[in-house]
Amino acid sequence: MANKRDYYEVLGVAKTASQDEIKKAYRQLAKKYHPDNKETGDAEKFKECTEAFSVLSDEQKRQTYDQFGHAAFDQSAGGANPFSGSGFEGFNFNGGNFGDLNDILNRMFGGAFGFGGGSSRRSSNGSYRGSDTLMRIKINFMDAVNGTTVTIPLTYDEKCNSCKGTGALNGTEYDKCSYCGGSGRVITQQRSIFGSIQTESACPTCGGTGKKIKTSCPDCGGKGYKRIKKNIDVKIPAGIQSGQQIRVAGKGERGINGGDNGDLYLEVIVAKHSSFEREGNNIHIEIPVDFVDACLGATLKVPTVYGEEELKIPAGTQPNDVLAIKNKGVKDLRGNGYGDEYVHISIKIPTRLSKEQKTALENYKAASKNSESFFEKFKKAFKK
Ligand SMILES: [Zn+2]
Ligand SMILES: [Zn+2]
Repeated sequence: MANKRDYYEVLGVAKTASQDEIKKAYRQLAKKYHPDNKETGDAEKFKECTEAFSVLSDEQKRQTYDQFGHAAFDQSAGGANPFSGSGFEGFNFNGGNFGDLNDILNRMFGGAFGFGGGSSRRSSNGSYRGSDTLMRIKINFMDAVNGTTVTIPLTYDEKCNSCKGTGALNGTEYDKCSYCGGSGRVITQQRSIFGSIQTESACPTCGGTGKKIKTSCPDCGGKGYKRIKKNIDVKIPAGIQSGQQIRVAGKGERGINGGDNGDLYLEVIVAKHSSFEREGNNIHIEIPVDFVDACLGATLKVPTVYGEEELKIPAGTQPNDVLAIKNKGVKDLRGNGYGDEYVHISIKIPTRLSKEQKTALENYKAASKNSESFFEKFKKAFKK
């Protein structure tokens, strides 16, 4: 991921840019750098801005990117990182195959993307990856701190293996669609932001498959997919914060023409705790301390998210003092250790005193008569 430019920088937009601004910026760059543009075309730059656009134009992916940067989309991160993988499965930049890229551009711009129409003929029967979907789940505070596994009942479509998503017996029993000649696409002239261009769209007769099924696949009834109802276990990593998303690969909407499924993004909502408050990886808690303990000092067993910890309250502790317990905060999602717990001291004054307590305090007052009271000091220092 080294040297990868910030997506906002690539598109030349502010972090707060609206979707319209992002789209506008991308259109200009894409037009400039498209490899078919003989004057200013630049395949690398084109790829870079397209990748940036694909993330920033998708609110879910943008949010994930804002939180985690490129790490969120780092495919080399491996299975341990729930955010590994990316939304880029639909891309194929290998071997300079811009046919696939043009597919994506056509989807982004509703089919109105192309340069002179001729140079980017798609492969026939191109399959599309399905859309990503979003689901929200609520977990309790401690599960977010410690990590958990949630079981989610899902209904999704799975590509039929028997026919490889074609809907035809054995994946072979079909003819070419006569309307489009098997390409699945029809070409029309269209005016667009790039001037008059040719655009391709899905064949209305075969729905873009390019196929006319002779014998339907018996397993899926010719649909090419099967509806699955299944409980899916999803691991929630320790340290997750409210609003963060976990990607469940291949459980989004079904693909088109035998394309892969999109991904499911689970947005995790973390419930509040009655005493702990979380700020990043740090935990805050307010504890009541008797005024005598604050005066004389004490050692208290204070709750942390990992159980009780002994905390030394120094003699002379003041109201609203904050004491830190190192490394008793939340585990960092990226593996950078733990946060801390901050204990906010709330000093409590009794409202009712027993006879003995009253006597003891009167004795304290008598013992203090030679030293100036706080109030006397204040009066002396006070200037009109
Ligand atoms: Zn057709
Ligand atoms: Zn089938």
